[in-house]
Amino acid sequence: MLAKPRILIIYTGGTIGMIEDPSTKALKPYDFSHLIDNVPKIKMLDYEIDNIQFNPIDSSDMDLDHWKLMARAIAENYENYDGFVVLHGTDTMAYTASALSFMLTNLNKPVIITGSQLPIGEVRTDGEENLITALQIAAARDLYGAPTVREVAILFENYLWRGNRATKRSADNFNAFKSNNYPALAKIGLGIHFDLDALNHVERPSKLVTHYELDPHVMAIDLFPGLSEKVLRHMLNTPDIKGIVLRTYGTGNAPTWGWFVEALRETVERGVVILNVTQCVNGGVHTNRYESGEILAGTGVVPGHDLTFEAAITKMMFLFGLGIDPKEVARRLVVPIAGELTLVHRH
Ligand code: ASP
Repeated sequence: MLAKPRILIIYTGGTIGMIEDPSTKALKPYDFSHLIDNVPKIKMLDYEIDNIQFNPIDSSDMDLDHWKLMARAIAENYENYDGFVVLHGTDTMAYTASALSFMLTNLNKPVIITGSQLPIGEVRTDGEENLITALQIAAARDLYGAPTVREVAILFENYLWRGNRATKRSADNFNAFKSNNYPALAKIGLGIHFDLDALNHVERPSKLVTHYELDPHVMAIDLFPGLSEKVLRHMLNTPDIKGIVLRTYGTGNAPTWGWFVEALRETVERGVVILNVTQCVNGGVHTNRYESGEILAGTGVVPGHDLTFEAAITKMMFLFGLGIDPKEVARRLVVPIAGELTLVHRH
């Protein structure tokens, strides 16, 4: 008989554990015991559950040090637990999921991130259901006793998404997340229906390798009609910047004007890595489709395929954090690390 699943809950904050400040009526982070006391049903799960709590924050305050703490908590407890549930605010959940998916190399166990839209203490809360389902997914095993999920994933309401493919899409709906370019890893209804084709099957070495160093010298530039040369050059010349995620139109298109193309070419020649991702929620960059995309690719800007913005920016932080040179960062940006992109070749 299999031993009881051992799950570690890592509480970082977010709406799920918040309470209302009586004087301002604004929600603020609160401690884990308040959260767990509101989920008595947890005892019905025949699991061994432990927890670690950080100083709870609204996830708008998330930064690289918190990611380091989370990765360390998982690494230090990796051998002692079958799975991990991270409770987190929804606002930056997809960034955290993406960062952890890169930081935890060779992950072979479930790291399920969840939270809620309504605090756990509210009658209509979605927090209780999300927490219970996340625990069940973290405990799920296949016929051979191996974990069903062996990656960083986001569980929210009816779906389990690959973490580095997900994006927060609603500030209201209980189904707050979506992965626009990759199927759900599981659908949650009467049962938890895993999509075995979508789940990670890559056989990884059994030893977890953790990379804690992320480089914050990255930034994003969003294109819009009317972006002037002065403003663009100012952004491209931001001091100490090593990498820029350029959010372009459609299939990766950008203006074809001489000054625009020159400004990007000069920046790439200076050794700054520029990664092209689309502003569209669905689909990806195919720079050989239009002349405008092709001209952009000719400047040395790297096509980001169907990377989400969250995965693109955290992957840059991760790759520069490895201390490799910009050419190697540019090369590795388009090599999948944790299932974050689909390489489609079109002609
Ligand atoms: N502001 C909150 C947070 O991200 C929102 C939430 O958790 O839903 O921490």
